[in-house]
Amino acid sequence: MKKITKLVFLNAIACPTLGWLLRNLDEADLPEVDLAEQFRMEQGIEIGKRARKLYPDGILVRERDTNQAISKTLELLADKNVNVIFEGAIGFGNYIARADILKRYRDGWHLIEVKSNVNDDAELVDDLAYTTMVCLKAGINITKASLLLISKDYRLGMDDTNLFVEIDHTFEASVKAEEFFMQIDEIDETTGAVEKPAPEIMLECKKCEFFRDCVGKGVDNHIFEIPRLSAKKFEQLKEMDIFSIADIPDNFPLTSIQKRMYKSVKSKQPIIENNFWDLVNSVKWPAYYLDFETVMTVIPLYPDIAPYTQIPTQYSIHKCSDFGKVEKHFEYLADPSRDCRRELALNLIKDLEGNGSIICYSNFEKTVINGLIKLFPDLSNKLSALIDRIVDLEKIIREGMYHPEFHGKTSIKMTLPALVPDMTYQGLEIANGDNAMAAFAYMAMGRFSGNEADKIKKALLEYCKQDTLAMVRLHEKLMLLAKQTAS
Ligand code: SF4
Repeated sequence: MKKITKLVFLNAIACPTLGWLLRNLDEADLPEVDLAEQFRMEQGIEIGKRARKLYPDGILVRERDTNQAISKTLELLADKNVNVIFEGAIGFGNYIARADILKRYRDGWHLIEVKSNVNDDAELVDDLAYTTMVCLKAGINITKASLLLISKDYRLGMDDTNLFVEIDHTFEASVKAEEFFMQIDEIDETTGAVEKPAPEIMLECKKCEFFRDCVGKGVDNHIFEIPRLSAKKFEQLKEMDIFSIADIPDNFPLTSIQKRMYKSVKSKQPIIENNFWDLVNSVKWPAYYLDFETVMTVIPLYPDIAPYTQIPTQYSIHKCSDFGKVEKHFEYLADPSRDCRRELALNLIKDLEGNGSIICYSNFEKTVINGLIKLFPDLSNKLSALIDRIVDLEKIIREGMYHPEFHGKTSIKMTLPALVPDMTYQGLEIANGDNAMAAFAYMAMGRFSGNEADKIKKALLEYCKQDTLAMVRLHEKLMLLAKQTAS
């Protein structure tokens, strides 16, 4: 039986079934790591390394085997010459934890957990409290407990001492650690049971990675697909043992958007509202279908940029004279070795010259252009004029129609396969925004060069181009649906 880690413990508090699954599943059963996830993990590792540099006399526990790591940590804790321990492994009973940093403080140890977050929050304190509990129960006197977070004021080139801000959570962590300790027997028992605890559906299940294999298994059009389903309505449906939208009684109170979805799922047909024709045609031609890609990293890629600043790095524009009639394609991809935001803004203004609508999907492009306005006040008039021309295709869909294959979402990843099934992202080297961001960041960090970098640039351009072409095809399909309904 595997030991209970922080991940198992904190999830088991929220859901015993989830705790059991995390304790009992093999690594092979967990989702595969893609480029974006790999990038996130590497960023975390880099932050850990930089934090350790702040304590030059620290000793790293390198052992990966749990028992060996615990023995090594005990040896270091007992050595009066050791002042700082990195990645110390602590265990008591079935519980284990790895403490990012343990530093001698007063007559005990200062526990420091390093996080890549900028903002302090309750979840991070829970994290710290778990390690505090394991240390205290293993006999290590924790005299101070802190989070080491990322400073918003850090800029590229600064010393690593400016990268972090330490927040003292000694009181909160010790109170929470005691609360956690009261629950350990129960959690050990449920997560260590031979049989998986029977799951009980709750609102949180909606975001659980095991949902489809757990309480969502075999349920078509689950009630979690209902947009903005309130806790009250969820409890009412649960009370009636109703989990499929098709089983909801006709007189159940739903908002107009929820009702539209309900009717579509029941009839297995798209529902088109009366105003759909007007919404779809609220476009001035020639129209420009626009999509941005951005990059956001904890360690800034360029000077004078705060951690986690969203930097636009590329765009694609399809100019159309009418629905589906592509006249021209424009694209821009930044040189990853430097901050190209001004160059991007100038190219954007030039490529979008004219009066036609700028068609985007969601509010994201508007946010990016607003960011450029703040950055370059001298371009503000020209950039603001672009904002005035924006038409949001997602809003048109949200306000005017529903298709049973949307499954409660209006993101292009759901609406495109439902309405334009022959257009897919399959076969593309880069097929989603997170991977595009990771690929660009790796290039900026010099990880790829020569042919490899050229291949990635080509894949990035293809991906962004596919996004705007998808909007062209989607808009064309919406027009056909509007026509059919009107006739
Ligand atoms: S789907 Fe719900 S009940 Fe099942 S493991 Fe996840 S949180 Fe627990």
